[in-house]
Amino acid sequence: MKNMREWSIDLHIHTILSPCAGDDMKPPQVLHRVKELNIEIIAITDHNSAENVEAFYIKGKEMGVDVLPGMEVQTKEDIHLICLFDTPEQVFSWQKTVYQSLPDLKNRRESFGAQWLVDSRGNITGEVDRLLLMGADLSLADVVKGVHAINGLCIAAHIDRKAFSLWESLGFIPDYLAIDNVELTPHLERNPNQLAQLRKKDFSYLVSSDAHWLGGIYPPQCFAFMKRCSIEELKAAFQKKGGRYIRTTR
Ligand SMILES: [Zn+2]
Ligand SMILES: [Zn+2]
Repeated sequence: MKNMREWSIDLHIHTILSPCAGDDMKPPQVLHRVKELNIEIIAITDHNSAENVEAFYIKGKEMGVDVLPGMEVQTKEDIHLICLFDTPEQVFSWQKTVYQSLPDLKNRRESFGAQWLVDSRGNITGEVDRLLLMGADLSLADVVKGVHAINGLCIAAHIDRKAFSLWESLGFIPDYLAIDNVELTPHLERNPNQLAQLRKKDFSYLVSSDAHWLGGIYPPQCFAFMKRCSIEELKAAFQKKGGRYIRTTR
């Protein structure tokens, strides 16, 4: 337990790149809000893309917030999985796989929303052309395997929601699926059946904001007891190794 403490974490935050996210989701604004709320570790998780990760990573270093490079992948089954890595290089390598598996369609800004790219100061630097808001030709198992192959973590997103969730699609967490953890939604009622299933599988679930606008970033409600911010430490906290743990406020 030496050198360990609780870190406040929010491992699911979108940026202005996600077509459904607000124009205020730029590095300076997001990281100021995160600091104001005393959140120490965030993950940047846009839909099927990581092209804004580096801008947030750089700004995070400048402002003393740990930013984990990530992505929210939409699988072939239309299930959302959060993929997390230690470095931008890893997430870019994963992005190659995802981009190759997305249908080659153009985004229609007027129907789906804009997919803006930003630099670390929050200037718009361009736009992602391809349509991001759709299922990639990767199964749940493909995503878990692919992410693990480059030492990332795979978390089933908002499993208590009615859309794009593992639970809604399958009604359970399949044993064959080697996901690292699951995420519950801050404001939803906890379902006793779901909690019982999670206990049985020994998941200490995460609570993440899934923020699409600044007001959607909530005060800390999820904590990891560990040594430092890294994928290895988080994984150990998920698995309750060496005294590490995940704690949520509800
Ligand atoms: Zn989602
Ligand atoms: Zn999301």
